[in-house]
Amino acid sequence: MSHSDLRPPCPSCGSEQIVKNGSTHNKKPKFKCKECGRQFVKFPEKKEISSETKAWIDELLLEKVSLRGIARVTKVSRTWLQNYVNRKYKRTPRQLKVSSKKKEN
Ligand SMILES: [Zn+2]
Repeated sequence: MSHSDLRPPCPSCGSEQIVKNGSTHNKKPKFKCKECGRQFVKFPEKKEISSETKAWIDELLLEKVSLRGIARVTKVSRTWLQNYVNRKYKRTPRQLKVSSKKKEN
């Protein structure tokens, strides 16, 4: 996958298994979800989520509230939320990788 070829996640199921599927009459690229078969166009307008809402979401995540619950109370879309969480966890370094197996004789 090349860097310039970023694909939006599926608006139905949030899957990132997306293929390009031609373009619309006004030259917008169309995509198709390999998971559920949904065809869609990349969202035309970006919905900006306020930093307040993001901070609230972070809190809810810490409280182990389900994504469904968070989406419901904060009124963000499940798809956006899923992506937000994915990005967030990708950015978080895996601390488990730190080796603690060094043998000290
Ligand atoms: Zn899908």
